[in-house]
Amino acid sequence: ADLRRGESDLRQLQTTLDQARHDLAQARRIAGLGTWDWDPESQRLIWSDEAASLLHCAPGTGPASLGGLLLLIHPEDREPLAAAFRRFIDGLEGMDCQYRLLLPDGEVRFLHQRADAGPETAAPARPTGTLRDNTEAHRASIQQETRDRVLALMVGGAPLSDILDAIAASIEAIDQSLLCSIMLLDTETHRLRVGAAPRVPSTLMAAMDSPPGGPEPDASAHPLGERLLVADLLYHPYWQALSGAIESAGVRACLSEPIRDSEGEVLGAFDVYSREPGKPDGCQLATIGQAVSLVAMALEHARDRNARQAAEERARLLLESANEGIFGLDLDGVTTFINPTGARMLGYQPADLVGRNNHTSVHHTKSDGTPIDEGECQMLTVMRTGQDAQVSDEVLWRRDGTSFPVEYRATPIRSHGPIIGAVVVFHDITDRKRREQQIHRLAFYDWLTGLPNRRLFRTRLGKRVGTQRRHQEGFALHFLDLDRFKEVNDTLGHPVGDSLLREVAQRLQSLVRITDTVARLGGDEFAVIQPDVAELADAAALADKIVKGLAEPYRIEGHEILCGASVGVVFAADEVIDPEALLSRADVALYKAKSNGRGRYAFHTDEMTRQVRRDAALAGRLDQAVREGELFLHYQPQVEIGSGRIVAVEALVRWRHPVEGILPPDDFVHLAERRGLFHLLGGWVIAAAAAQAKDWQDRGLRFGRVTVNVSPQQVRSGSLADEVIVTAQEVGIDPALLELELTETALLEYGEHYRTQVAVLREAGVRITVDDFGTGFSSLTYLRRATVSALKIDRQLVRELTWDGDSAEIVSAVLALARSLGLDTIAEGVETEAQAQALASLGCQRAQGVLFAPPMDPLALEAHLAVGKVVRPLRGLTEKAAEALGR
Ligand code: C2E
Ligand code: CA
Ligand code: CA
Repeated sequence: ADLRRGESDLRQLQTTLDQARHDLAQARRIAGLGTWDWDPESQRLIWSDEAASLLHCAPGTGPASLGGLLLLIHPEDREPLAAAFRRFIDGLEGMDCQYRLLLPDGEVRFLHQRADAGPETAAPARPTGTLRDNTEAHRASIQQETRDRVLALMVGGAPLSDILDAIAASIEAIDQSLLCSIMLLDTETHRLRVGAAPRVPSTLMAAMDSPPGGPEPDASAHPLGERLLVADLLYHPYWQALSGAIESAGVRACLSEPIRDSEGEVLGAFDVYSREPGKPDGCQLATIGQAVSLVAMALEHARDRNARQAAEERARLLLESANEGIFGLDLDGVTTFINPTGARMLGYQPADLVGRNNHTSVHHTKSDGTPIDEGECQMLTVMRTGQDAQVSDEVLWRRDGTSFPVEYRATPIRSHGPIIGAVVVFHDITDRKRREQQIHRLAFYDWLTGLPNRRLFRTRLGKRVGTQRRHQEGFALHFLDLDRFKEVNDTLGHPVGDSLLREVAQRLQSLVRITDTVARLGGDEFAVIQPDVAELADAAALADKIVKGLAEPYRIEGHEILCGASVGVVFAADEVIDPEALLSRADVALYKAKSNGRGRYAFHTDEMTRQVRRDAALAGRLDQAVREGELFLHYQPQVEIGSGRIVAVEALVRWRHPVEGILPPDDFVHLAERRGLFHLLGGWVIAAAAAQAKDWQDRGLRFGRVTVNVSPQQVRSGSLADEVIVTAQEVGIDPALLELELTETALLEYGEHYRTQVAVLREAGVRITVDDFGTGFSSLTYLRRATVSALKIDRQLVRELTWDGDSAEIVSAVLALARSLGLDTIAEGVETEAQAQALASLGCQRAQGVLFAPPMDPLALEAHLAVGKVVRPLRGLTEKAAEALGR
C-alpha cells in the first residue's frame, strides 16, 4: 500500500511536474523566450524546443556545437559571438550577445542570446542561458533611427535623392533579403522614374527607368496608385518584358506600394523586391508602410521647398529684370533691399544703399529745392496709415547730385498683421514729362516765336483779372499790331516775314519785365499783360517803350526793314473788367492808335490818351519850369470864423505854363513826386514862402504864419528840417513864422527817422499841421506823441457836414479829440454860410475856404493883411453859433 501510495504520489508529482513544464514552455513560447544549456561533459549545446524554433530548427534539434551555430549566422557577427561564448564557458563572465540569424530565404532575424555567469564557488554543472528573437525591437529601433535621420536630412536641406536613399537603405538594413527602389511619378510624362535604389542592380533599374519611346512594361498590368503584390515576377505580365533584367538581378517577388501625398495624390511607388518567390509577412508590410509614409513626407517637403525656392527665384528674377526700381524700407526708413535696376537709376551699387537711411540718401528734396520733411515723406507715411500711396510729382536724387522725376507707389508690408516696412516701386518719368511738356508747348505756345499763344494768353488774362478782384491790383493790357507787316510779307517773302516776327518777339521780351506776359495772338498781333500798374502813366511808359523799341529798323537777310507797331492800351485799376470786355477795349484802343497815325499808342478812351500825353509832356518840362521861374505861389487866408481875423496864410503852388496857361497843383504835383523831382519843387516852395514872409514882415504886414504843404517825399529825403531852418536863416526870418502841412499817410509812414526831424523843427518853433485829417483814421498813435500842433479837418467832411449826420459826429469827435490833446483845429474848404455856422456851433474856431477868401496872389492878399482880417467877413453868426464861439 505504501508503495502504491508512493507510486500514486510519484505519478501525482510527475503530473504536477509535467504540468509545470508545460506551463513554463507555454510561458516561454508566449514570451518568445527560448532556453539553452551547455553540457561541459559532452561539450554540446542543448536547445529548448522554443529556442530551436527561434533558430528555425525542428523541435529537439538545433546546432549542437558552437561551430554549427556560427554557420547559421551573419559572417560579420561570428567572431564577436565566438569570443563571447568562449569567455562564458570558461566561466569568466556572463554572456550578452546579439547576432543576425540568416535564413535560407535570405530573411534576417536578430537574436539576443544571454546567460548569467554562475557563482565562482559553486560552478553549475550545466550553465543555462536564454535566447530571444529581438528582430521586432531591432526593426523598431532602425525605423526610429531612420525617421530621425530623414528628418535631420530634411531640416539640413539635403538633396531629395540622399533622403530617399536613406529610407531605402533602412528597409534593406532591417531585412537583408529585400531590395528596395523608390519610383517617382513624372507629372509630365506620367511615367515612373527611379528616385532611389541604392542596392538594386543597375540592369534592373535601367530597365524599369527606360526612357519614353523604348520598350516599356505593360502599364495596364501595374496600375498607378494601387498596391501590387507579385509572388513570382516570372509569371506576372508587367515584368514579362523585363524578365532578363529580373533574372540577372536575382529577384523573384515584389511588393509595390503607392506613395501618396496628404491630399491622396499619387507621387510614385515604393517597390520592394525579394530574392525568393512569396509574399511579405505582416511585419514586413508594417515596416514598408512606415517607410512609404516617410517617403511621402520627404517628397512633400521637397515639393514645398522647391515651390518656395521657385517663388523666391521668381521674385529674385522679377526684382532683377524689372524695368522699375524697387526697394524695401524698414520701419526706421532704412533701405532693406534694392534691385539692380533701381540702384542703377540712382547711380549706386545695391550694396551702397542697403542699410542706409533711404530718405536722406535719395528722397530728401523736391524738384524745386524745398526739403521734404521726413514726417511728410509719403514713402514713410504709408507705414503709419497702412494705405498705399501713389506719387508722381517728386524726384529722386542720384549719387552725383542730379535728380530725375519719378512716379512711385509705396505699399506697406505686413507680417502676420503688423506693418514691418514698405516697398517702393518707382520709375523714371523723364521721358513722359518731356512728352507732356512737348504737348503742353504745342497746345499753349506759338511754334514760330515760342511765345504763349492766344489760348494761354486768355488763361493768364483771366487769372490777372482774378488777382485784380482779390487784391485790387491794377494792371494794363497792351495790344499791338505791326504797321507794315503785310507789305514785308508780300515784297520780301514769307521766310523773311517769319524772321521778322521772331525778331519782334525777341525785342518784346527784352522790353518787358520777367513778370509780364508777352503773347503772340496770331499773324502780326501780339499782346502784353503788365501786372502791378499803379497808374495810367506806368502803362503809358511801357506802351511808349514798346512803340519806340519796335520802331528801330530790323536787319534780316541783308534787308533793312522798317516796321513799327501800334499799341492799344487798356488800364484796369479800380474797375474790374472781365477778360472779354478787356479784349474789346484793347481792340478799340488799337484802332485809335492806328487811326491817329501809326507807330503810336492809344488808350481806349481819348480822355485817357490825352491825360497820359499831357502828363508826360508836363513832367518832361517840370524841372525847366522850376528853374525858369514859371512857378508861383498863391496864398489863402486861414481865419477865425467869428471875426474873420487872419491867423495864417497857406501857400499853394501854381504853374504858369507857356502853352497851357496857369496850371493848378493837382496837374503837376503828383508828376513831380513820381519823377523824383520833388526836392526841386518842394525846395522852391519853401524858399519862395520864406522870402514872401520876410517881405511882408519887413513891410509890417501881419500874416500870422505862412503854411507850406510838404510832400511825403520831402520827409523821406531826411533833409526837410534842415532845409526849413537853413532857408529861414538865409532869408532872415524866425523859422517859427513857417508852418508845415503833412498828410496823415506821410505821418504814418515814417518812424524814428521822421520823429527826429520833427523834434528839430519843433525845437525851432516850426508848427506842424495834419492836413486832410479825418480821411484815414487808420491809426491815431502819431497824435499822442505831441509832435503835431493842429488838425486840419478835411474838406470832404466839411462838405458833408450839412447834409450828413455821421459827418457832424465825426467832426465833433475830432474836435473833442483835439481838445483833449491840446491841439488846434481848422476846417478847410468852407464854402457856405451853413458850413461855417455848423462848424462854429460844433466848436471849431478857425476855417479856410472860398467863403472867406480864395487863394490869391500876394498883392491881392495884402489888401486883407492891411486890415488884419478878410475884407468880406461872415454876414452874421446865428445865435447858436455865436453862443458856441463864446460871444
Ligand atoms: P490842400 O493842401 O488840401 O489845399 C487846399 C486846396 O483846397 C487848394 O487847392 C485850394 O485852392 C482848395 N480850396 C480852397 N478853398 C476851397 C473851397 O472853399 N472849396 C474847395 N473845394 N477847395 C478849396 P489847390 O491850390 O488846387 O491845391 C491842391 C492840392 O495841391 C493841395 O491840397 C495840396 O495838397 C497840393 N499842393 C498845393 N501846393 C502845394 C505845395 O506847394 N506843395 C505840395 N506838396 N503840395 C501842394
Ligand atoms: Ca494844405
Ligand atoms: Ca487839404
